[in-house]
Amino acid sequence: MSQAPQQGFTLWLTGLSGAGKTTIGQGIEARMKALGLRVERLDGDTVRQGLTRDLGFSKEDRDKNIERVTYVAKLLSRNGVGVICSFISPYRQARETARRETTNFIEVYVHAPLEVCMSRDVKGLYAKALRGEIKQFTGIDDPYEAPERPEILLMTDRQTPEQSIAQVWAYLAERGFVPHDSAEGT
Ligand code: ADP
Repeated sequence: MSQAPQQGFTLWLTGLSGAGKTTIGQGIEARMKALGLRVERLDGDTVRQGLTRDLGFSKEDRDKNIERVTYVAKLLSRNGVGVICSFISPYRQARETARRETTNFIEVYVHAPLEVCMSRDVKGLYAKALRGEIKQFTGIDDPYEAPERPEILLMTDRQTPEQSIAQVWAYLAERGFVPHDSAEGT
């Protein structure tokens, strides 16, 4: 990358639980940190333990959750920080608001078929949802509105995490937000 100041962006990872949002977000964050780039990661699980711990999973609360996250991402991204947001964020309209409000918004649809997410069941949540112990679980008894024109589509059932991370990195490099991989020879 040239000596130009770092540009802020908002990398928005959306998809079902277990699709790979956190894994990919962590991968991009680690690479940016290793290069000394400014980065902040906002993740559904941690944000819901703090900033939005008063909220549940009704449509109204999910919208409020994303509204608050959007506000934080707006402040950071306009000040030159690369912001990585990993949230199921099932509602299209809330994501479109994030697109409008933040700087250099990039929508990443982290996609794997529901059966694959269920078989991964990283946190045991699908098993609980199927037993009826968790209500309003996205993909089981709550809707997910898939992105129509995401900047990046990742099919995580056909890629390794490293391949997915590399695909996102290549896009960010193309836009000039991070340096090209030296392995790419550019
Ligand atoms: P989410 O944050 O979307 O709920 P996680 O990142 O917590 O999902 O879990 C995704 C799981 O899927 C991890 O165990 C990860 O190793 C696995 N996985 C397999 N292939 C991929 C891929 N291409 N990208 C991301 N995760 C993948």
